[in-house]
Amino acid sequence: MQKQLQLLQDLQELDTEKKIVENDRQAGLNEKQVLKSEIDRLQQMVDSLAGEISVLEAEKAELNSAMALELENVERSEGRLPQIKTQKEYVAVLKEVDTANKLAKELQAKIDAKDEILTSLSTDKAEKDAELASITEEADSRCAEIDASLVAVNKQLAEMDRQREALLEDLPKGLRKRYGLLMSRRGGVAIVEARGGACLGCHMHLPPQTFNSLFVVNEIQTCPHCNRLLFVTKTDE
Ligand SMILES: [Zn+2]
Repeated sequence: MQKQLQLLQDLQELDTEKKIVENDRQAGLNEKQVLKSEIDRLQQMVDSLAGEISVLEAEKAELNSAMALELENVERSEGRLPQIKTQKEYVAVLKEVDTANKLAKELQAKIDAKDEILTSLSTDKAEKDAELASITEEADSRCAEIDASLVAVNKQLAEMDRQREALLEDLPKGLRKRYGLLMSRRGGVAIVEARGGACLGCHMHLPPQTFNSLFVVNEIQTCPHCNRLLFVTKTDE
């Protein structure tokens, strides 16, 4: 019985320690996830800016071709002027030139407006590119640190699992099952010390008989309040 109690205490100690290591491991994984989402967020911003810029550039290219067309029109109409015979025709061609010039001016204004937006978007993108590069560099180096510590942590966990298996092997099946059930139902604490007449798991007072029997009865006792397995240390005797 004493041997079983000792095994259970060792198992509890190991599992408590294992939980801390597992939490550390999870914290590392979470940190990597946070770094990754930050990079993803910036990458999305950069991509969206690049998309906007490429749409604007296509629109600007269209405006430029329309502009070239109007300038050609002006040139062609002006080229016809010397050959014109009638006043009526002359006025008509001048009107054509005027219209084409007006259109070209409007197109230029639109091109200028696109240029202004393009400049501002390009500045934004350059800033985000730089931010992304610097954050990626930081994240890469931090992730390398985390990965290195995860290798150590995984090794430690594997070793703990080995120790755990060895302890479990020496426990009777029924007790193993009870321990597992309590672990999952009682927040990872299955066996606790009873001291000063109380259960240190739930801090409730134990019936005096139960408490006293812990020192003499050759059977594993449980707390009537939280059902955890109880042990006493020699200093309580
Ligand atoms: Zn209790």
